[in-house]
Amino acid sequence: MAEKIDEKKVTPRSQDFAAWYNDLIIRAELADYSPVRGCIVFRPDGFAIWEHLRDELDRRIKQTGARNTYFPLFIPLSFLQKEAAHVEGFAPEVAVVTHGGGKELEEPLIVRPTSETIIHHMFAQWIHSHRDLPLMINQWCNVVRWEMRTRPFLRTAEFLWQEGHTAHATREEAERETLTMLEVYRSFVEDFLAIPLVAGRKSAAERFPGADETYAIESLMPDGRALQCGTSHYLGQNFARAFEIRFLDQNNELQHPHQTSWGVSTRLLGAIVMSHGDDQGLRLPPSVASTQAVVVPIWRKADEAERVQSVSRDVVGRLAQAGVRARTDEREGVTPGYKFNDWEMRGVPLRIEIGPRDIAAGEVVLARRDIPGASGKSRASLAEVAATAKSLLQEIQTNLYKQAKAAEDSNTRQFDDYSRLRAQMADEGGGGFADVYWCGSPQCETKIREETRATCRAIPLNQLKDRGGRCIVCQESATERALFAKAY
Ligand SMILES: [Zn+2]
Repeated sequence: MAEKIDEKKVTPRSQDFAAWYNDLIIRAELADYSPVRGCIVFRPDGFAIWEHLRDELDRRIKQTGARNTYFPLFIPLSFLQKEAAHVEGFAPEVAVVTHGGGKELEEPLIVRPTSETIIHHMFAQWIHSHRDLPLMINQWCNVVRWEMRTRPFLRTAEFLWQEGHTAHATREEAERETLTMLEVYRSFVEDFLAIPLVAGRKSAAERFPGADETYAIESLMPDGRALQCGTSHYLGQNFARAFEIRFLDQNNELQHPHQTSWGVSTRLLGAIVMSHGDDQGLRLPPSVASTQAVVVPIWRKADEAERVQSVSRDVVGRLAQAGVRARTDEREGVTPGYKFNDWEMRGVPLRIEIGPRDIAAGEVVLARRDIPGASGKSRASLAEVAATAKSLLQEIQTNLYKQAKAAEDSNTRQFDDYSRLRAQMADEGGGGFADVYWCGSPQCETKIREETRATCRAIPLNQLKDRGGRCIVCQESATERALFAKAY
């Protein structure tokens, strides 16, 4: 068995972050490469994380009043061309279907890269009066963007996501919806995925094609590169005009509604792997772990096996009753040490060890995945095991967030000197968040991007209230701080 562990060794994170990330996904059996270039296969352990995440987010989205729908995968090519900025942004990465049923199609179809166009086409038929508003829908589906450089979960040609689309009578209401959904995403990712975020506005250069304003949640990965974890767009009336969506307002006048769209994707799985994983494997937040606690029965002599296994099953029953997703590992022919490593690799938050001596003492050993070694171990009586496990899982969820937040804070730096910003970003390993005053001009933004490869990730909603400053590039007065980073 020793060889089996060795041959599956992952590249240390400090040595090569990208290789470590890819190794972890394969070794923890989250996903596998597919025969189709740029696409991945979600294996059961990876898909289970998506299901937990999806179910919770779906619940939160429905609480805001949006309802689920399903639109077709195919969209007439002409729809894409109706909104000028939208087509310019998406055309290069769209997959086009030209043939079907053995014949050339009269009009080519695109495989949806996002569904604004087809949804707004239908909105035009559903919205007539102010009484039809607000219209708030969401769909969970796959989309395709023909990416040249792909990475599992982070950037794949086909990915899974949810996309919400809403139409409102007034600008104020649509802007409020955009920010409401940004906050839904922020609290969901921070609480449920234990990933710290910055919520902010995008610069014009980083906006969604066709939007008046884009907001995003951004997280800093441990390699110092930022990952956009979700976006919420205020579309203004751009699509409503292009798709001729009109309604009669209370004064009986025809108006275009104000619209929003918002989404998060399977990219969040990549964020979980990167934010929390270590050299031993994944570390899953209990909220998304399909196994929250694994019970490992330990015995040496054959006559001990039955007793240890029976107590282990009893513990799993107690845990299940308390609402903890638990299982035992009764595999034969592998050592307890092998099992420990295996479950650490898979990121199970809590391991419960039960041996003959523990049973004699009426106790079990609990080992936390978030705290390595002896300091992460504690004991509990059999009677208390479920309550103890529950409270430890809570602590693990909180602690994973704290650890990730500390890493992000230590890699976020304020600069007022452009040469120091450049030096920081010259670091091949990443560079972290650079928190700077920026005057808002595209010229200064472009200069930073071209000279440092850092882009404007967000103009944070939470700004320092004290004073303005000088733009890091041009020294003109600036009222807002912006976060720049190299990004995934
Ligand atoms: Zn400037």
